[in-house]
Amino acid sequence: MSTMSADTEHDQGKAATDSPLAQRKRVVIVGGGFAGLAAAHALRHADAEVVLIDRRNHHIFQPLLYQVATATLSPAEIAAPIRQLEAKQQNLTVLLAEVTDVDVASRRIEARYPGVGLRKIPFDFLVVATGMNPSYFGHDEFARYAPGLKSLSDAVTMRAKILDAFEIAEATEDDVERVRQMTFVLVGAGPTGVELAGSLAHMAKVTLRGNFRRIDPAKASIMLLEGGKRILPSFAEPLSRKAAGRLEKLGVKVMTDVRVETVDEQGVIAGGKRIPSATVLWTAGVMASPVPRMLGTKTDRAGRALVSPFLEVADMPGVFVVGDAASVMQNEHPVPGVAQAAIQEGRYVGRVIAEELKGHKADHPFRYFDKGNMAVVGKNYALLERGSLHTSGFLTYLVWAFVHVLALPQQQNRLRVQRQWLWSYVTGQRSSRLIPELPRAASHELH
Ligand SMILES: Cc1cc2nc3c(=O)[nH]c(=O)nc-3n(C[C@H](O)[C@H](O)[C@H](O)COP(=O)(O)OP(=O)(O)OC[C@H]3O[C@@H](n4cnc5c(N)ncnc54)[C@H](O)[C@@H]3O)c2cc1C
Repeated sequence: MSTMSADTEHDQGKAATDSPLAQRKRVVIVGGGFAGLAAAHALRHADAEVVLIDRRNHHIFQPLLYQVATATLSPAEIAAPIRQLEAKQQNLTVLLAEVTDVDVASRRIEARYPGVGLRKIPFDFLVVATGMNPSYFGHDEFARYAPGLKSLSDAVTMRAKILDAFEIAEATEDDVERVRQMTFVLVGAGPTGVELAGSLAHMAKVTLRGNFRRIDPAKASIMLLEGGKRILPSFAEPLSRKAAGRLEKLGVKVMTDVRVETVDEQGVIAGGKRIPSATVLWTAGVMASPVPRMLGTKTDRAGRALVSPFLEVADMPGVFVVGDAASVMQNEHPVPGVAQAAIQEGRYVGRVIAEELKGHKADHPFRYFDKGNMAVVGKNYALLERGSLHTSGFLTYLVWAFVHVLALPQQQNRLRVQRQWLWSYVTGQRSSRLIPELPRAASHELH
């Protein structure tokens, strides 16, 4: 990693400096998620100055966020400092800043550095890899009562909300309030909603058993609401039926074809009926971060930039969008918003730019290779769909665990997660059952 900071408008960019790096082209990558890191890595041998900008100092392994929200893992176990991950890449500079504007015509981005202010950073190539944010379908007021799950602080907020509810249920003298505290409503039954529901049910039945004197946590009511006709719509129907059956066995009430009309401090109104609940968790929708729209190009309804088969933005040579922020079509189907797609797109664009720097134009469009789709439903049970292969059960669960441990960033995360899983598997305990003492809204990661 270069120790130089990126040139900014103050020094008028690369042309004005004496640094050898200043003679090189600059590739700016916005986003240190799966796609951004893969793009940076693919440029490690390129004769270019690579600048990776993220508003967070850490990369998050999002597929395991639900385990932080349900106290199995702690935040530090599924995240890693971006600087540390990229420390060995000599042509790379990491900047902690939030991109607030993009001026494609003058080839500059504007970024806000915490404690420093706004800076403009020139680029020759731009890779936008800024991912998605939770979406409340035009009802942003729901966010106050129903946190989404995207960041470590979201996961810690969810964890605090869940654990708080059991504490208040134990303390209250009001029977009606006790029932409300022990009712958990999850909105959205995609993989995250299903995984969260299964994990929460296991926690209520096993982990918290014997921990309370006045309530029985196993009697908690967990409801999974889905607006569509079935849960896990991205999986084949038989797998989705199996997952629903498994959740019902765990005591989760699965309700499909039900629209959530209101979320407020008392709970939700869904399908015209009020469900009193102190804990509503939102896993229903996502919307692209605002950065693709800053390019001034066409976006789809979810705010993703429409890109060419080379992942480049129309009429903007050298400007690429990858990962969840891009809408990519392949064989008339959208490439899914999953980690594998983001990694493959980031790697592809990194290589395209590296070739362009050598004077070669890309001639092969991006091809997504689908390695399969997995989801966990409670303990000992996972689903896998890969082409015509559909499996579920304990062996699939072991495959899921193996694949996820291997995919974690940093060796230390892999070791720590394996240790936690083993402990949790054998004892049923979860070692991260902490309610932060700070005001919830301002709570950050605990270690
Ligand atoms: C809870 C959850 C569970 C998931 N489970 C799975 C799973 O099991 N399997 C699977 O394959 N996929 C899963 N996904 C999807 C997968 O995580 C995404 O497809 C993947 O993270 C997309 O990678 P990305 O690099 O495009 O975006 P991200 O990984 O979201 O990274 C975007 C980065 O951009 C940064 N950023 C955003 N805006 C700005 C800005 N203005 N300035 C600077 N930086 C900015 C963010 O801080 C972030 O680091 C899950 C997602 C979530 C939220």
